[in-house]
Amino acid sequence: MTINKKIECLIRPEIRALKAYHVPDAAGLIKLDAMENPYSWPEDLRNEWLEMLRGVALNRYPDPNADALRKNLCNALAVPAAMDVLLGNGSDELIQIILMALAQPDAAVLAPTPTFVMYEMVAKFVGMKFVGVPLTQDFALDMPAMLKAMETHKPAAIFIAYPNNPTANLFARADIETLIDKAPGLVVLDEAYHAFAEQSFMDRLGRHDNLLVMRTLSKQGLAGLRLGVLAASPPWVAEFNKLRLPYNIGSLSQASAQFALKHLDLLNDQARRIRADREKLLQALSKLPGIRVWPSQTNFILFHVGQRDADKLFESLRGRGVLIKNLNSAGSMLKGCLRVTVGTSEENAAFLNALEAAW
Ligand SMILES: *Cc1c(COP(=O)(O)O)cnc(C)c1O
Repeated sequence: MTINKKIECLIRPEIRALKAYHVPDAAGLIKLDAMENPYSWPEDLRNEWLEMLRGVALNRYPDPNADALRKNLCNALAVPAAMDVLLGNGSDELIQIILMALAQPDAAVLAPTPTFVMYEMVAKFVGMKFVGVPLTQDFALDMPAMLKAMETHKPAAIFIAYPNNPTANLFARADIETLIDKAPGLVVLDEAYHAFAEQSFMDRLGRHDNLLVMRTLSKQGLAGLRLGVLAASPPWVAEFNKLRLPYNIGSLSQASAQFALKHLDLLNDQARRIRADREKLLQALSKLPGIRVWPSQTNFILFHVGQRDADKLFESLRGRGVLIKNLNSAGSMLKGCLRVTVGTSEENAAFLNALEAAW
């Protein structure tokens, strides 16, 4: 049998139909495509961090439960006292753990769309049905449609990115409360952009026993660490913890995260700076003729290029050394849309220059 025949026999059809998550090559480019924090740490802090890493015993397995780190994260993220946290290799792994636990024949995952693509991808990985409910024209939750889809599909989980990626907005709190109250299953509030929005459902965890709140250090300057945090009632965490592979958070990540938590002020200062620069970038962008720019509660900006060709603009920017994200696709709500991450002032200026030249 040829390898292709074997693949056809053995690999599930829905996996064969997938494309692997593509990360574009950013070598030599100003990288404004992935919502990374553009700032590194001052030299003396880097040295202190590297000195601390000397003490990490790489010959030993990591602390399997990362107890010390979990305790410090609970404090740093203001997780209510009665709640517990589960750590993942990024929130991506947490999404995977949650859905592995929920996957059974006919079980569905629901999310308003467009949103973070991993909810749908992971749903497919584990053989669940994904139901996307389009947002309204102004990117609000379409409540009648959401409630109807909940009624029809009885989703085991609803994912809500708060703020949402790629639309950069916070959905109305009251709408989310309604969904939590009426959901037949879990509601996962993905607060990846919390540092830039400062709105949270963390303090609602005790009120709703079907609510889970997810955070990540990725957008706050530690994307390389891969550390996601799921806060929930202890019985939920106990179930999900059974699916967590042992030692999923490496020693270097645990130690580095502990170190970073001691310097939260620095990370918060960086987030403040990014928020201020975001407003400047919004102002400057909105001066381009024919552009439509949406307000942002995140560290990125979504804009529509009007009559211009989004694909051409994206390529032209890349040709000028600036990589952003092309969201343009025919028939989608994001037709004609591009997304730019807020970088340093210099990077933002370079992006604006390139865009003005390409416009
Ligand atoms: C970027 C992003 C994440 C981050 O995932 P990690 O695996 O923690 O890096 C999670 N959720 C949303 C909505 C995002 O945009």
